[in-house]
Amino acid sequence: MENRKINLWDKTFKPYIPAEKLEKAIDAVAEKVNADFANCEDIPIVLCVLNGAIMFTGELMQRFTFPCELVSIKLSSYQGTQSTGTVLNILGLTADVRGRRVIICEDIVDTGNTITALKELLVAKGSSDVRICTMLLKPDVYKKPDKLDYVGMEIPNAFIVGHGLDYNELGRTGKDIYVIDND
Ligand code: 5GP
Repeated sequence: MENRKINLWDKTFKPYIPAEKLEKAIDAVAEKVNADFANCEDIPIVLCVLNGAIMFTGELMQRFTFPCELVSIKLSSYQGTQSTGTVLNILGLTADVRGRRVIICEDIVDTGNTITALKELLVAKGSSDVRICTMLLKPDVYKKPDKLDYVGMEIPNAFIVGHGLDYNELGRTGKDIYVIDND
């Protein structure tokens, strides 16, 4: 990982999680999902929560060894570096989930508002089973009763970018993760 800070809009971010560490976490998550879905007779849906989870979902799918269908949805609850508390459904679901098992792929779970609203939406639409798979979790902030089935890494409550995650649409590029530099 390059040991240099980056500037995005009005903020500075410093190196935080190197790609190699993330790769290992993604390997471990994929191994668990593969074990749970090995020999499945249905075709589960892998649901990518756009845009942040694009890279993570791609990386998981490269590792998945069971047949699955890729579907996307675009949701947003963040403005700048703060959760607004309201989850907006921007793009809608691109497939019928009735009677299907769904594995939600998220970049990061913070308050859990997004994932909880999405799970409710999928259950309301008739999904037979919904699992949550997230690259990162902020356990100090997440207080929802829903269990997270697969978690790559836990991080403290700080705003991060990189590896698909943005600050007002900038900073998604690159394999490493950066954290806001308040110094
Ligand atoms: P939640 O609904 O759990 O509060 O927030 C989840 C969504 O907020 C994530 O999908 C992500 O888009 C955004 N988010 C939460 N924490 C961060 C963060 O530290 N950095 C960035 N870039 N986005 C975040």
